[in-house]
Amino acid sequence: MRILITGAAGFLGSHLTDRFLADGHEVLGMDNLVTGSRANLAHLAGNPRFSFVLHDVSRFIAVEGPLDGVLHFASPASPIDYLELPIQTLKVGSLGTHNALGLALAKRARFFLASTSEVYGDPQVHPQPESYWGHVNPVGPRGVYDEAKRFAEAMTMAYHRVHAVDTRIVRIFNTYGPRMRARDGRVVSNFVVQALKGEPLTMYGEGQQTRSFCFVSDLIDGIYRLFHSDHVEPTNIGNPREFTVRQLAERVLALTRSSSPIVSRPLPTDDPKVRQPDITKARSLLGWEPSVDLDEGLSRTIAWFREHLGP
Ligand code: UDP
Repeated sequence: MRILITGAAGFLGSHLTDRFLADGHEVLGMDNLVTGSRANLAHLAGNPRFSFVLHDVSRFIAVEGPLDGVLHFASPASPIDYLELPIQTLKVGSLGTHNALGLALAKRARFFLASTSEVYGDPQVHPQPESYWGHVNPVGPRGVYDEAKRFAEAMTMAYHRVHAVDTRIVRIFNTYGPRMRARDGRVVSNFVVQALKGEPLTMYGEGQQTRSFCFVSDLIDGIYRLFHSDHVEPTNIGNPREFTVRQLAERVLALTRSSSPIVSRPLPTDDPKVRQPDITKARSLLGWEPSVDLDEGLSRTIAWFREHLGP
């Protein structure tokens, strides 16, 4: 297969690129490098089945030759990024999704949307099954990401229904692992980097809010299976083991053997209080479930940051 991955220089896009290349496919990676980094693709230099195109997918996407898949992974995805880049975030989720769908239609390619657990907002149903419609503040600071992804899902289903484009939608829950940026702003990378540098761990609020953390290799495996399945409706992929943010801080301190203190910082506006995927559907449809537990995943992430953090 010859596939296009938008956001290929990002954390998930680059791991997904590796996965398709490992299975013998040809990958065209596209990114405008606003939050992605060429370093995530540096190991692919000289690979004849990979090529990189610098392009902002919010603008018309022109690709020569056939395509079998268009996987739309481009978007700022860390809260600090979409707070800083609200208009780009809205554009890549709306115009970017429209352009990527138009390309998939023109090429008769399968379209795959990277959506998010943020479509559930600050959820009032727990854990979250795909049938839950969510609880999102459209005009709050996170609304730019949440609503863009909700629009992207609606647009994807419209192209499926009107143009019979073969579409898939994954709702990705919190994911961590090698290639996260040190300054990504998300909780796992923040805590690991702070612990390794001997700086205080910045716990927002009292750390009683929960998240369920999926190691990147598990997530990519779920996405790869969903891409190859015939399931059109949105599917949650994530790890259902749920932890408070304080518990996460304590695991990071134990595994890094760091003596950093934990300090409390103001809770961001509209920060979801709980989050846990209901993965019944992924289990039954894809035969998928995560296999890397938090301690193992954190250990691999810590080892990677130890190697990649400057002095
Ligand atoms: N968080 C924290 N300290 C940090 C970064 C994040 O306590 O340095 C909290 C944040 O308030 C949220 C959770 O960790 O409750 C996960 O935040 P993240 O930005 O990783 O992703 P989110 O799930 O909110 O999109």
